[in-house]
Amino acid sequence: MTLCRVDNSINWPIITRMTHDTDILIVGGGLNGPTLALALAQAGFRSIVIDANTRPKREADDFDGRAYALARASQKMLAALGLWTAVGGQAQPISEIKASDGHAGRGAAPQFLHFQAAEMEEGPMGYMLEDRYLRRALIAAMEANEKITHLSDSIVQDQRIDEDAAEVVLADGQRLRGRLLVGADGRASGVAARAGIRRQGWDYGQTALVCAVEHELPHHGVRIIFIACRAAGDPAAAGQSCLNRLE
Ligand SMILES: Cc1cc2nc3c(=O)[nH]c(=O)nc-3n(C[C@H](O)[C@H](O)[C@H](O)COP(=O)(O)OP(=O)(O)OC[C@H]3O[C@@H](n4cnc5c(N)ncnc54)[C@H](O)[C@@H]3O)c2cc1C
Repeated sequence: MTLCRVDNSINWPIITRMTHDTDILIVGGGLNGPTLALALAQAGFRSIVIDANTRPKREADDFDGRAYALARASQKMLAALGLWTAVGGQAQPISEIKASDGHAGRGAAPQFLHFQAAEMEEGPMGYMLEDRYLRRALIAAMEANEKITHLSDSIVQDQRIDEDAAEVVLADGQRLRGRLLVGADGRASGVAARAGIRRQGWDYGQTALVCAVEHELPHHGVRIIFIACRAAGDPAAAGQSCLNRLE
């Protein structure tokens, strides 16, 4: 795909030197990039959202099997962006949350925290929503929005900031310029690394198994959170508390 400059088209007379392809360059078309682009579009800003994966891959049912627990604030944001009509029918309202903990090898503690939507005025405490529905809705909404240019199968390899603009260089050599560059390229963000933005992190020395479970009995909208702690006396537990979370 070839992009034409929006504010300095070759068909327009050049009056002043304007060299932006868009207002905001967003690297990453996962969750945060498209959501931001839609919010920016509502505020009148143009953006280009660039993602490394192909569109068919990102829209495939088996691309990412995860399901999100959406807090009410996130659900309200999706509604404000006009996305809830597309995904609300696929979302499971959370009517109760039960949170318990326990020590590895000893099982769950008998006590647990219990939150009920019936105690709230606003309704469900949140929603469970599968990634595939949200991702497809985000892509469709971006494609339908004239303020958003959506580039799939495009890898950002480099970036440069000068006085007038932020510029990214794609793997095919194409250069795009915007007034602002946003890194929404995930936890190993190349945008942040190239900008010299440092992060602090640590390894829990844990292995996680993420899976979808088919229920034999109805779940009644109850979200169960189990936090497992290493047993006291385990040298690896020193200075650490609860480590694993099962939702
Ligand atoms: C198993 C699991 C369960 C989770 N459950 C929840 C939950 O219940 N609730 C919740 O709120 N969060 C949950 N999260 C966290 C949530 O998934 C992340 O916070 C979220 O996906 C981050 O979104 P993002 O847009 O920042 O990054 P990502 O979704 O990681 O997207 C980054 C995008 O950037 C693109 N990209 C990367 N590098 C480049 C490049 N150089 N050029 C172009 N594109 C690039 C990638 O292709 C990718 O599409 C869960 C995470 C996991 C792993």
